[in-house]
Amino acid sequence: MTKTWVTPGGVHPPENKHQSLTQPIGHLPIPAKLVIPLSQHIGAPASPCVEIGQQVLKGQVIAEATGVVSIPMHAPSSGTISAIEHRPIAHPSGMLAPCIEITTDGADTWIEHQGISDYEHIAPRKLIEMVGNAGISGMGGAGFPAAVKLNPGRQRPIHTLIINATECEPYITADDSAIRERAGEIIEGIKILSAILDHPHNILIGIEDNKPEAIAALAPHVEGTGISVVDFPTKYPSGGEKQLIYILTGKELPSGKLPADLGMVCINIGTTYAIKRAVINGEPLISRVTTVTGDAVATPRNYDTLIGTPVSHLLEHNQFNEQAGGRVVMGGPMMGFTLPSADVPIVKTTNCILAPSYAEIPDDEPAQPCIRCGMCAEACPVSLLPQQLFWYAQAQDHDRLEAHNLFDCIECGACSYVCPSNIPLVQYYRAAKGEIRHARDEKVKSDHARERFEFHQARIEEAEREKEAKRAARREAAQQAKASPMAANDSTAGSSAADIIAAAQARAAAKQVSPQEQRAKLERTIAATEQRLQVAEEKLAEAVASQSDKQAVFSAAVENTKQKLEQSKSKLAELAE
Ligand code: SF4
Ligand code: SF4
Repeated sequence: MTKTWVTPGGVHPPENKHQSLTQPIGHLPIPAKLVIPLSQHIGAPASPCVEIGQQVLKGQVIAEATGVVSIPMHAPSSGTISAIEHRPIAHPSGMLAPCIEITTDGADTWIEHQGISDYEHIAPRKLIEMVGNAGISGMGGAGFPAAVKLNPGRQRPIHTLIINATECEPYITADDSAIRERAGEIIEGIKILSAILDHPHNILIGIEDNKPEAIAALAPHVEGTGISVVDFPTKYPSGGEKQLIYILTGKELPSGKLPADLGMVCINIGTTYAIKRAVINGEPLISRVTTVTGDAVATPRNYDTLIGTPVSHLLEHNQFNEQAGGRVVMGGPMMGFTLPSADVPIVKTTNCILAPSYAEIPDDEPAQPCIRCGMCAEACPVSLLPQQLFWYAQAQDHDRLEAHNLFDCIECGACSYVCPSNIPLVQYYRAAKGEIRHARDEKVKSDHARERFEFHQARIEEAEREKEAKRAARREAAQQAKASPMAANDSTAGSSAADIIAAAQARAAAKQVSPQEQRAKLERTIAATEQRLQVAEEKLAEAVASQSDKQAVFSAAVENTKQKLEQSKSKLAELAE
């Protein structure tokens, strides 16, 4: 048995996984509309490369990656592009973001595609390119582009590949069911990863001991491959990169460092399956396994769901009982968030739609004052001081929050879960992180603005110096001309004085505005003055109607504007003569 280590903190919330594991992974009818957000990952959003009205095939690129840290988007089914616009996306605030809508044709016709089976003979660079072109981002966390993760650079050779098969949130069984049914393809994906990373010495699949069926499903496929399935006691949370690396290797990932800095790469098991489909089958990432569960749905189970499927479509096909449950959560009860609307689409990171009944997950109790019990600190898997972070977040003390490593918080919610005062601690941390990021962005913007201003000032000063130098040269030339009384008659000095006079006349001529320009300027002035007169007359009429004491002010303004208008008109008439 492989040695494992125990992380600090953690909790044991009651499990509710069995409900969604009674049936195999299902498939839903293709929705009439699919909505694909252009940003489902960390990094730059994809840029649309289709037009409204265009026919697209399943798997066709509809938006291209826009940088190194970006991924393309593909059509999850065939149909017609019916909108490219901002739509509500899965976010606690109900925010809008750019999306592409496809009206499906029901035929589900694939674009021509082809994979490769002899990946061992393909250059890693080419395999990484295939992963990138397939639009694969991490499917278990924040959605980091997989191709970037698989390219740690020559200076950071990878000796350990960790496959994250933990699924510690109560209720979620998407990875568990995928391993039970797709173990062979997952192991094939791990072999591709091994080839890309130049065959690391250790390949470890980390999985909790509450998934015996999944562990048994992996066993025959890993035999003789050098891949180890490492199970460890179930505890929430264990699925963060930092926690899993510690559990499997005993190595601590320092704050601000990446697993690659320790010679490790950590990939989610769902992502591993997507990599197999991309390389061997030539398929982009257009669907994922999503758990639909909770007492408010009639048939909790896992579905192979097309990206872009509205959450409402999943609920309708599971006889969602709105009376039994008031809210729909994206993710699990610990780290998920309540959706403001069920019209948002499933994205590449959506592992669960939870529709609990009121009895199952009651509404949050009102928060009480902190009693300084310290239970939150005991539960924190990152050894932070949640109580202190809470105070600093309330005080918006950003410096102290950063000094207390707020950004190491993985937002697992273990502290909120144990808090006897029902303080929604993790919500304070999320909000504080948002404020700090916003403040940093604003600082960058103001630094840029200051640099632009200083550059502009320097240019003005430089131009002023040049002008002053020219003025000094002209003064000197004029004094020289004055100093010689015969200058005008002297053939040599005369030419210098004549030159100065000619240059001055040329400058004066250059400054003169042509009649056409004068006319255009006057016409613009007349139009603007007429507008001002209209506004002033309206205000005067209002003041008269309401017998306001401002009548005199507006009447003077009207007279004044009329005079200016007359002056401009008469100047224009003079010019015409
Ligand atoms: S668990 Fe809640 S009440 Fe106890 S110290 Fe932490 S914040 Fe305060
Ligand atoms: S949410 Fe953050 S502070 Fe709270 S237990 Fe998890 S890691 Fe610690």
